[in-house]
Amino acid sequence: MTDLQAVLDSIHTELQPRIGEGKVADYIPELAKIDPAQFGLSVVTVDGKVYSVGDAAVPFSIQSISKVFMLTLALGKVGEGLWKRVGREPSGNAFNSIVQLEQEAGIPRNPFINAGAIAVADVVLAGHEPREAIGEVLRFVRYLADDETVTIDDKVARSETQTGYRNFALANFMRAYKNIDHPVEHVLGVYFHQCALSMSCEQLARAGLFLAARGANPMTGHSVVSPKRARRINALMLTCGHYDGSGDFAYHVGLPGKSGVGGGIFAVAPGIASIAVWSPGLNRVGNSQLGAVALEMLAGRTGWSVFGD
Ligand code: GLN
Repeated sequence: MTDLQAVLDSIHTELQPRIGEGKVADYIPELAKIDPAQFGLSVVTVDGKVYSVGDAAVPFSIQSISKVFMLTLALGKVGEGLWKRVGREPSGNAFNSIVQLEQEAGIPRNPFINAGAIAVADVVLAGHEPREAIGEVLRFVRYLADDETVTIDDKVARSETQTGYRNFALANFMRAYKNIDHPVEHVLGVYFHQCALSMSCEQLARAGLFLAARGANPMTGHSVVSPKRARRINALMLTCGHYDGSGDFAYHVGLPGKSGVGGGIFAVAPGIASIAVWSPGLNRVGNSQLGAVALEMLAGRTGWSVFGD
């Protein structure tokens, strides 16, 4: 049996000299203010044990990691019909790229790039006022994490609303192709608020535990999705969760995972554990630089890669 706490401690000690590496996202003014010299890592095993190191209790902006929870919600609402609106292939392009939308009739490549996530937000918004939909998202994530203290950082949401020109472009472009049903401002209201969810590594690892445990959270007994759906969400994270860095992440880490420009990465070792790491400095493609290194160390030392140990 691996001593997980010892593994986490050794990763933290070895990475200590590198904490602060990478560049914080500065295209969202509120995120540009974050101190890059922070690092947290949490692992929650399917038998309900929690292991943490560093700044694992500090809430951060989960940004695109929210796309996993939104996909789960949207699949719950419309089932496999969702795939008429969004594809399931890696894009090979940046997270905020628009180029494939014109070539592919307004259908985004996958639910984890911005265009795809905006289409998913449109699905979640159906039948609601934007404020209600945002409330539903927050309630769902609190339910998953079993923690009522999870919040949305309104300053971050506002900051993105004021500067998210590319996201407005993506949403308008898709609306022109009739792949957005609601007013663009409403859809992006939902999207910017989901991105502004503020959670710690511990909360995030707990919230995502159902994906490591055949769709049900063993700590709460909540059944969230079927085993098949959990497996499929994991497949999408593996192939598309890190944008144009997805192949590289699979090569080095070998776990389904989803990154966000707040510097968080959520990852799943199916049948074993859910993992959240946070280090705000990003690499070239907008994924946490040290977060990926830490996960590579963790997968290497535990033998958890889905491709074999
Ligand atoms: N809110 C961010 C954006 O839309 C999310 C991007 C990300 O985390 N990669 O640009």
